[in-house]
Formats: sequence, structure tokens, C-alpha cells
Amino acid sequence: MKVPAEMENAFIPGQRGVIVPYNRKVNPRVQYRLAQAELIKSSASLAEKYPKLKALTVDLVYLDAFGTRQNGGMKYKVNLEHAKSLFSFNCVHADCVGGDYDLSDELSSGISRKVKLVEGEVRCQGVRHNKDRKSQDPCQSILRYKLTLGY
Ligand SMILES: [Zn+2]
Repeated sequence: MKVPAEMENAFIPGQRGVIVPYNRKVNPRVQYRLAQAELIKSSASLAEKYPKLKALTVDLVYLDAFGTRQNGGMKYKVNLEHAKSLFSFNCVHADCVGGDYDLSDELSSGISRKVKLVEGEVRCQGVRHNKDRKSQDPCQSILRYKLTLGY
């Protein structure tokens, strides 16, 4: 009997535990992250898409859904050569799937109007999966952002 190539060495008699059943549960958050990462990677860099833009500083504050508790933040100068024009930030909640804060449109309209400051708030549209309670709730966490643009 001829064994197909992919079946060769699939099982070696007498060596228990060689074959590991591949039934790892697919993690929806990881799946979403990977898909998003692909999308972002394939988008043009900010320098390519907005040649007029010479500097960009991002100031972010993460808040809970009620806008009261702060969950961290960051401020940094964006590297226009490396940063992508799909300008999206991850939701800070580890149990949130399908969310994130996509500021691509805000950035794009700011640049086309040549404004120096774009600020506002966006809500995460993801869903938080609570494993213990087996519940799924809208995330709605807030990102308060300030984009300082230079031309
Ligand atoms: Zn979220």
C-alpha cells in the first residue's frame, strides 16, 4: 500500500504521544487581531498617503464606558514612514473582541482641511466576552484622542 506523502511518519509505532491532536480552541480575539494586523500592514504608510503631513503627535487617554475611570494612556510622536494610514489603536480590554479605535477618517479629514489639532472621543464597538459569566456585553469604552498635526 502506498502511503500519501503527508501521511508519512504520521504515526511511529511504539512512540506514544507523538501525535498531538490539533483541537486548540480558536480564540476570537487572536483571530481578530491577526486579521486586523494584516489589514493594517497592507495599508499605505502615512508618509505615502499624506505627503503634506510632516509631523504627527498622538495623545491618547483610555477611559471606561462611563468616561470616569482612566485605563491608561500614551503620548508619542508618530514615525510617518513606519506608521500606517489605517490608523487604529487597540482596545485596552483583554476580553474585548472586534473593537478598537479607528481614527483613520478623523486623521484624513483633518489633513485635508489642514487643521493643526484634531481631538475628540470614540467608543469601542467591540464586544467583551466574560468567560466566567458566559456573557457578552458591548464594550463602549472610550478613547479620548488629540492629534497634533504639522505640515
Ligand atoms: Zn473594546
